[in-house]
Amino acid sequence: MSNTTVTLTGTGVPHAAPSRAGAGVLVRYKKIALQFDAGRATVLRLIEAGVSPTNLTALFVTHYHSDHVVDIPDVVLTRWIQENMHKAGPLPIITPHGSALRFVERMMDAFDDDIHVRQEHTDNVDFRTDITSFAPSTRPTEVWRSSDGEVVVEAVAVHHEPVMDAVAYRVTTPDGSVVISGDTRVCDEVFELARTADVLVHEVCRTQAMAESIKGTPFEQIFDYHSDSIVLGEFAQQYNINHVLLTHLIPSPRSEEDSAKFESDLRRGGYTGMVTVGNDLTTISIGK
Ligand SMILES: [Zn+2]
Ligand SMILES: [Zn+2]
Repeated sequence: MSNTTVTLTGTGVPHAAPSRAGAGVLVRYKKIALQFDAGRATVLRLIEAGVSPTNLTALFVTHYHSDHVVDIPDVVLTRWIQENMHKAGPLPIITPHGSALRFVERMMDAFDDDIHVRQEHTDNVDFRTDITSFAPSTRPTEVWRSSDGEVVVEAVAVHHEPVMDAVAYRVTTPDGSVVISGDTRVCDEVFELARTADVLVHEVCRTQAMAESIKGTPFEQIFDYHSDSIVLGEFAQQYNINHVLLTHLIPSPRSEEDSAKFESDLRRGGYTGMVTVGNDLTTISIGK
């Protein structure tokens, strides 16, 4: 029986939409719970998925765009506020060098008065952070391993320029592996990493479908560093990807019909494998 599950804690984007929290993916293997990014309302989605911030083993950052990091302070504070009861310790945060590291190092500064007063009045332990950073590489590099060695996380640099130091992650457990693209244009690095994975969680944007409506707007440039849905289908087929789980959906679907268009685009790109168009809390098991 598989012990590994992948849950989308948020499928939204910066433009807020009903029922879609900000970017985030939760990978669980037995008692290990790894969170990738924490966009708006991640704490609520985690609780709904049955994982308190005090149960998280580590949190990984793909890049510093606000829609991926805005709820990290909430995750960290919610965990710390319960420290007297749960003794979970500071949440290990693993992040690429550069601006994402600068963000997580500074993100709690604005809460210093709040942290101080809670410490004074609740006799809570001193607030501490636990941050590890790495230099993104174009070759997959191990960035984390569980203490029993059963779960390994690797990172590879992706193409989200002008954002530098953006990465994708691969989590490997005894059941199999999952790749999380983060934000990127469609690139070989992610697909190389996903070639043998059970599932590829990938961001997606219906760029070609929206080409006319975004002409002359800033979205032309913005969509240029996201993943066009048809090209995604072409790559998924070329790399023989087993299962694509779509998230970070642009535009945010508001109906089943809207969601179906994303799958149709991947089919137009020639993809014949499994497609799941994600909703918040969509959960799949990997392996047997
Ligand atoms: Zn994003
Ligand atoms: Zn981004």
